[in-house]
Amino acid sequence: MEKRNERRVILFPLPLQGCINPMLQLAKILFSRGFSITIIHTSFNAPKSLDHPLFTFSQIEDGLSETQTKSRDVLLQLTLLNNNCEKPLREGLAKLIKPDSDSGTTEEMKISCLIDDSGWVFTQSVAESFNIPRLVLCAYKFTFFLGHLLVPQIRREGFLPLPDSEAEELVPVFPPLRKKDLVRIMGKSGQVEQLDSYLVKILETTKPASGIIVMSCEELDQDSLAESHKVFNFPIFPIGPSHIHDVPASSSSLFEPDQSCIPWLDKRETRSVLYVSLGSIVTLTESEFLEIACGLKNSDLAFLWVVRPGSVHGRDWIESLPLGFIESLEGKGKIVKWAPQLDILAHRATGSFLTHNGWNSTLESICEGVPMISLPFVWDQLLNARFISDVWRIGIHLEGRIERREIERAVRRLMVESEGDEIRERIKVLQDEVRRSVKRGGSSSRSLDELVDRISSF
Ligand code: UDP
Repeated sequence: MEKRNERRVILFPLPLQGCINPMLQLAKILFSRGFSITIIHTSFNAPKSLDHPLFTFSQIEDGLSETQTKSRDVLLQLTLLNNNCEKPLREGLAKLIKPDSDSGTTEEMKISCLIDDSGWVFTQSVAESFNIPRLVLCAYKFTFFLGHLLVPQIRREGFLPLPDSEAEELVPVFPPLRKKDLVRIMGKSGQVEQLDSYLVKILETTKPASGIIVMSCEELDQDSLAESHKVFNFPIFPIGPSHIHDVPASSSSLFEPDQSCIPWLDKRETRSVLYVSLGSIVTLTESEFLEIACGLKNSDLAFLWVVRPGSVHGRDWIESLPLGFIESLEGKGKIVKWAPQLDILAHRATGSFLTHNGWNSTLESICEGVPMISLPFVWDQLLNARFISDVWRIGIHLEGRIERREIERAVRRLMVESEGDEIRERIKVLQDEVRRSVKRGGSSSRSLDELVDRISSF
C-alpha cells in the first residue's frame, strides 16, 4: 500500500458520459498497475464516487448555472467549463499537493502526472506551474483527432460554400470523410469562430504535453498513428479499447441502467434483437423520433430501444408515440430510459446495433462483433460511420435519412438478408484482431506497458 501511495496519478475527465467512461476505465487499468488514483471532477455530471471505492475523488466548482447544465449546446458548455474551471483546478491541485493540517496528513503528496481530456484547453499551463507532467487522453478515433485539428485551416482555405455536385467526394486531407460530412463537422454559422478558436487551443495545449493516450489501437488506426509524428513529437500510446483490458468491471454510468433489459433479452432467440441507442447527447425532433418508431415496428423484428428522457424536443419522454403503439408491438419491442449497454452488446440475443457511432459505442460494438446501422449526427460520429460503412464494411449507413422506410429496409438488410451474413463475418475478423491487441504481446498491450513505464519514469 505504501508503494502504491508513492505514485499517484490525477485524472481530470471532461464531464460528458463519452469522456467519463474511458477515463475511469483508464483509472482502473492504472490502479491495477500499482498507481494510486485521484479523480478531479466538476460538480456538473459528477461521477458516482461510491461505485469506485478504491479511488479518491475531489470535486471542483464549475460555475455552470442550472440552465447551462441543461443546455443542448455542448460546444457552449465546453467553452463555459474551460472559462470557469482553471482557478478551481489550480486550487484543487494545490490542496492535494500541500495538505493542510486539518486533513491530518503532513507529507506532500507526490504526483506522477495529470491525465486530462484533449478538450480541456487550460490544463497544460496549470500542470506546468506545479511541475507536473501532463498526458492528454484522446477519446476519439485518432484519425478524427488529427483531422479535426485541420478544420480551421480547411475553412480558411475557402472550403465553403460547397457545391452540391461535390457533396459525395472524399475530403483529401481527411479521408474517408466525404465533403458533405465535413460540412456538418464544421458547425453552424453562429458557432464557427467559437469552434475554430477552440480547436486551435486544443492543438496549442496538446503540443507541449508529455504524450497522448489514445483509446484506439494499431488495428483500427494504423494510418493516422503513422502520420502522428508530423504533428506531435511526443510518444503516443494507443492502448486499445479501455473496457476490454482485464480489470474488474464497474459502471461509470451517470444514469441508472434499466436492468430489466437482460431478462427480456434472455427470452429472445440468438441474434434476433436490434439494439437502438443514440448515446448520451444526441437529441431528435418529434418527427424524427416517430419515423424511427415506425421504421422499427414495420421491420417486424424485435428491438430494444434507449430513449433518454428529454432527448425528444419538447417532450419529457415517449408520450408522442401514437396511442396503442407499445401494445401493437405485442412484446417484440422494449423501450427504456438508459441501458446496461456493454451487457446488451455482449448478449447472444443482440443481432445488430442502430447507433449514432459515438466512438465508445462504435468500439463496444466492434469488440462484441455486433454489426451496425449508422445514424451519425455530429462531430466524430460522421467519420466513425464512414469507417463502418466504407472502410471496414461492417455496417450499413443510413446517410442521414431518418425515414421509416429507410430504417425498416436497413434493419431487414442487416438482420434477415444474406448481406448481413457477410457483414457479420467481416466484423468477426475485426473483433478478433482488436481483442487480440490487448492480450499479452499484442499492440495495445505493448503500448500500455510503455505508458506505465513512461508514467513511472516521471
Ligand atoms: N451508454 C450506456 N447506456 C445507454 C447508452 C449509452 O451505458 O443506454 C454508454 C455507452 O456504453 C458508451 C457511452 O454511454 O460507453 C456513450 O458514449 P459514446 O462515445 O458512444 O457516445 P456519446 O454519448 O459521447 O455521444
